[in-house]
Amino acid sequence: MKPLMDVEGFHKALIPWGKMNFRTYPWRLTNNPYEILIAELMLHRTQARQVVKLYEQFIAHYPSPQSVVQATEEEIESSLHPLGLLWRIRLIRKLAQDLVTTYEGRVPVEKGKLILLPGVSDYIASAVRCFAWNLPEAIVDTNTVRVVGRLLGLETKDSSRRNQQVRKLISNLVDKDAPRDYNFALLDLADGICLARRQPLHAICPVLSYCRYGNLHRQHKAVDRRVREIARKVVRNKEKFLRQAVAGEHIYRSPWFVTSLVTFSRLTPCPHQAPN
Ligand code: SF4
Repeated sequence: MKPLMDVEGFHKALIPWGKMNFRTYPWRLTNNPYEILIAELMLHRTQARQVVKLYEQFIAHYPSPQSVVQATEEEIESSLHPLGLLWRIRLIRKLAQDLVTTYEGRVPVEKGKLILLPGVSDYIASAVRCFAWNLPEAIVDTNTVRVVGRLLGLETKDSSRRNQQVRKLISNLVDKDAPRDYNFALLDLADGICLARRQPLHAICPVLSYCRYGNLHRQHKAVDRRVREIARKVVRNKEKFLRQAVAGEHIYRSPWFVTSLVTFSRLTPCPHQAPN
């Protein structure tokens, strides 16, 4: 099957951009699996900037699953209270207990074991494996689905992250030699360039030349520009053009003139009818 894009070229464009525009959250500056796991649980349904300070305080107080287990429930609750979502606070405690009793306080690397831990979804298991051990995992969430969908020219929606084909396409794009750098870059691209609620910043996008949606948008803009040019020309010379059209002169039969006339007629109702 023909590849959907030049994947190697795409990596060469994306990863250096990612390194230059790397967002330095504290959980990105570690490869400790426990710290990354805690960060991922805190980030669930919460914006990164709300998490930063609490995360730093929490890791300083509770640097290991053992330290969480030794603390009382009230102590853990009070340190995570500003994050809200009581169930999440309880999950973190339960998670630490499971890590201590089942894995001697270590985070297992195997995905099958990770997803059995309290609060660990498929997404979180992949994120921990990729960001802690640099394993080639796809990070599939609404943001990466949106970016990859645009890159490949696919129509996607929020629920597409559960679609197996979409998941496979996202997995196939992961750089197997640098999965951690690749996924950070893709997430930062989604956050800063390939925006969800505003027009994507195609003009400064490092992967524009690999992107179907971006290129389609560029072509449409070029067509719009051409139509506007034609419209301006027609408006400037409307008397002359209309006279020629009514008289059935040569210019009337040119496709350019017909397009111009259509554009013009949309701008100003035309009082003249072309002869049949
Ligand atoms: S070119 Fe535009 S649509 Fe494509 S990835 Fe970049 S910002 Fe997103």
